Amino acid sequence: MDYLPIFLKVQDRPCLVVGGGKVAARKVALLLRAGARVTIISPQICDDLLQKAEQGDVLHELRAFRDTDMDDKILVIAATDDEGVNRHVSRLAGERHIPANVADNPQLCNFIMPSVIDRSPVQVAVSTGGSSPVLARLLRARLESFIPAAYGRLARLVDEYRQDVKRRFAEPAKRRYFWESILQGRVSELLFAGQEDQARRALEEAIHDTDEAFAAGGEVYLVGAGPGDPDLITFRALRLMQQADVVVYDRLVSEPIMDMVRRDAELIYAGKQRDQHTLSQESINELLVRLAREGKRVLRLKGGDPFIFGRGGEEIETLAEQGIPFQVVPGITAAAGCASYAGIPLTHRDYAQACIFVTGHLKDGTVELDWESLARPAQTIVFYMGMHSIPVISRELIAHGLPASTPVALVQKGTTREQRVYIETLASLPDVATRKSLKPPTIIIVGEVVSLHEKLDWFHGNQLN
Ligand code: SAH
Repeated sequence: MDYLPIFLKVQDRPCLVVGGGKVAARKVALLLRAGARVTIISPQICDDLLQKAEQGDVLHELRAFRDTDMDDKILVIAATDDEGVNRHVSRLAGERHIPANVADNPQLCNFIMPSVIDRSPVQVAVSTGGSSPVLARLLRARLESFIPAAYGRLARLVDEYRQDVKRRFAEPAKRRYFWESILQGRVSELLFAGQEDQARRALEEAIHDTDEAFAAGGEVYLVGAGPGDPDLITFRALRLMQQADVVVYDRLVSEPIMDMVRRDAELIYAGKQRDQHTLSQESINELLVRLAREGKRVLRLKGGDPFIFGRGGEEIETLAEQGIPFQVVPGITAAAGCASYAGIPLTHRDYAQACIFVTGHLKDGTVELDWESLARPAQTIVFYMGMHSIPVISRELIAHGLPASTPVALVQKGTTREQRVYIETLASLPDVATRKSLKPPTIIIVGEVVSLHEKLDWFHGNQLN
């Protein structure tokens, strides 16, 4: 270890920053966040620091550094563009045994500043020993994605109940087991989902319950997996995927996404292919209830967003009726994902002031859609599950007043490496199935915005296919 990692208390204590540029401003911001009393010495000062000085957040003297500036300071940072001054400050601090940091010059530092993931009171600091701040920042970004934003709140909640738990479980091993189950289970998930009152109640119940009771308590996570590209799932979805005991998934959930699920989780395929549902909706609803009742953390993983043509509502209705705790994690819906990856803005000031998502899955082949309102100008229509209704869509939209030349995009397997985009018009749409071998899932986008594809197309997936 080249350095000793420590967290230094600077609250209400005098710290010195020599230099008044942008780099100094960054360091000052960090010191202020930690509650330090900051004095800045610099003949010039940037607007940001000037503003802070005027607000009284920092003391500032508009002049060159003098040795006496270091008197009584507990920490010094030099961030000037004058190598001589930086060197002098560093040497002087060394003689006086004051921790000193010189920006971008690890040789002159006797402490270095890490990249910080701040979930106060939880903090994670990353350092590369000064060798590559960029690498430290990249690492930090990775860690950010694994540490939920609400970690700070979780730590504060734990702190509040620490003494209660200590009284309840005198034995350290039991206490550790208790906290482990709380921090990996329902209490923390409730908190991360913004349900702070319920989290508190669940924690209190767990403290006053018998030893075994708190460990049980299944729950369901209804999670949107997005349209296919695994990079498009949310941080929360990823975390829940990695802690679920059972995963009930649909056909639409792509293979690379399934690969990210916890290795030893039980996988249950719920199907959902047109006209051949592997499990009926009722049996999926019941399955979720049963698994949660067994005390399992159940991940119900759906393509796109669970509340957009995903029957997510029906599934959690049953859970709510049965008193099973659940949370819903949104995903990027196919319309948004496919449109972005096809370079088709769904709204545009010149072409579309509204966008409508509709299902093209017409019950018994009958037309239940309000074609009149769909065929209005200056709006984009996105048809989900529309492949088998292509002739109806084309015919009805033209019959209700849209020009036959209105551009239409078919986006097949959007956001994946196999994405294909076919540009048609309402008139040519019915022939498309005979000319191309269309594969599900495909989404249909109708409207003038489709014409932007030619200019804005940027994603080319796997060029080899
Ligand atoms: N809940 C999902 C939609 C489920 S309905 C969501 O929010 O995206 C299934 C329909 O979604 C498919 O018939 C198809 O029209 C569309 N779809 C889903 N993923 C798609 C993809 N990667 N590319 C194109 N269309 C997709």
